Amino acid sequence: MKKKNHKYIFVVGGVMSGVGKGIAASSICKILQSKGFKVNPIKVDPYLNVDAGNMNPTEHGEVFVLNSGLETDQDMGNYERFLEMDLIDDDYMTSGMIYKHVIEKERALGYKGKCVEAIPHITEEIVRRWKKSADYHESDISLIEIGGTIGDYQNILFIEAARNLKIKYPQDVLFVMVSYLPVPGTLGEMKTRPTQNAVRQLNSYGVQPDIIIARGTHPLDHRRKEKIAFSCAIPVDNVISAPDIESIYDVPLNFEKDKISSLILKAFHIRTKSKEDTLKEWKGFVNKRARAKSVLNIAVVGKYFDTGDFVLSDAYVSVIEAVKFSSYWKDAKTKLTWINSKEYESGGRKVSELGNFDGVIVPGGFGESGVEGVLQAIKYVRENKIPYLGLCYGMQLAVVEYSRNVLGWTDAHTAEISTKGSHVVIDIMSEQKKLLENQNYGATMRLGSYPAILKEGSIARLAYGVGEVSERHRHRYEVNTDYIEEIEKAGLVFSGKSPNGTLMEIAELPKSVHPFFLGTQFHPEFKARPLHPHPLFTAFVEACLKNKK
Ligand code: GLN
Repeated sequence: MKKKNHKYIFVVGGVMSGVGKGIAASSICKILQSKGFKVNPIKVDPYLNVDAGNMNPTEHGEVFVLNSGLETDQDMGNYERFLEMDLIDDDYMTSGMIYKHVIEKERALGYKGKCVEAIPHITEEIVRRWKKSADYHESDISLIEIGGTIGDYQNILFIEAARNLKIKYPQDVLFVMVSYLPVPGTLGEMKTRPTQNAVRQLNSYGVQPDIIIARGTHPLDHRRKEKIAFSCAIPVDNVISAPDIESIYDVPLNFEKDKISSLILKAFHIRTKSKEDTLKEWKGFVNKRARAKSVLNIAVVGKYFDTGDFVLSDAYVSVIEAVKFSSYWKDAKTKLTWINSKEYESGGRKVSELGNFDGVIVPGGFGESGVEGVLQAIKYVRENKIPYLGLCYGMQLAVVEYSRNVLGWTDAHTAEISTKGSHVVIDIMSEQKKLLENQNYGATMRLGSYPAILKEGSIARLAYGVGEVSERHRHRYEVNTDYIEEIEKAGLVFSGKSPNGTLMEIAELPKSVHPFFLGTQFHPEFKARPLHPHPLFTAFVEACLKNKK
């Protein structure tokens, strides 16, 4: 059952994808949250994958992991960051997930012999999950972002489910369309026609948008606002201009300049729940960003950076944002340089270039390609005392590098690549072996939040300020316990371990040896938030500032 007066806002995309629908949706949530409402964001991905876990990051961007371990779309990261809240499984759904549930229920006679159909059974299951999410968060307003673009075949059932809710609760459902207004180079004029057509298409599904957010390189002028308003039959004030801006964190403030919250509250006939300016802290953060003086040059060495002729850092959004947050709070901005480690292998670039950077990050990754290049890079930054942060694969490869070059185990490797040598210092986790043999790849890694106990006096313990932490994971391999004693004797400290002491969660070099050399088996980036930057990223940024060239 829907809670009385519970509201739904659906955000759909017009014209094309990739224009910032997720950021627009997160920003609306943020503003409503600042008005004292409890909001719950939901991301709907129309593809048939059951989750985002098996998707190639160069095609789909980062796989964001929730506390539960669910592997989701990167937009879930935006929601967690903008709203400073932890999301749950019911806040994310794909067509594959919905269909799988309905088909399994049918197989279990759950529909009692009825003919099971896309409408109503799929749409009912969609709505059931939306309500479940709202119930869990005890929210006043659900904001549901429907992936894809209007006109896609794939998202029609989600729009149909939304339409059903609108029919049932006409006062409690709003539709926001985030559309794109191109400025063709040959004309130099912003064109509204594609948006008009997108609205017509949405109308043909029985849905009328209440608000249109006009994304574009330029602000939308009044004349075009009027044109859209007239042709799409919505009030002029409900057309919001959303030009490109420098930082996504400015978007909520810009939307508020166009009074988007009062539009929404008026449409729902509700009043703000908070008189205070609760965006104050947010503004403080945004101002810090704008005022940051020093610029840190950080190299990110790895792969998944290029698709065709383009560099796609989308595969590591959470890493990028985590570095930004910590930098801003330290009054710095960060320039990240993406280095494809394969270029170190081919000789196209030299690792000595890393000496020009204030710090180096090796983020998560899988498989063989580029790994020898990464190992060369880690050796260089370790020997030349350049601050180093290794995330997951970046930690495992730091252990491989240390084993090879400090312990002298030249055949040391991770089992992910080779088990031929006598020193498999990173091994497959025992429970993972069978899964891989059976090609059981979906949602089977060690996923989600697990605790780690921190070693007294270590860099990690100092940075966190507490003795036990919980962090999110996504891996199949781990440090081989057979070698821990020897590796520690040689100077690398395992400063974070699972409570039973068998899983190495953090590896670091003491400050007396290196200004900052630390790797985590988990992904701290998933828990970095604008107003609560992650302590390990902050410690890394501090070290980079000290090392600033
Ligand atoms: N490929 C490594 C593993 O599966 C590291 C994974 C990662 O970096 N997320 O253990």
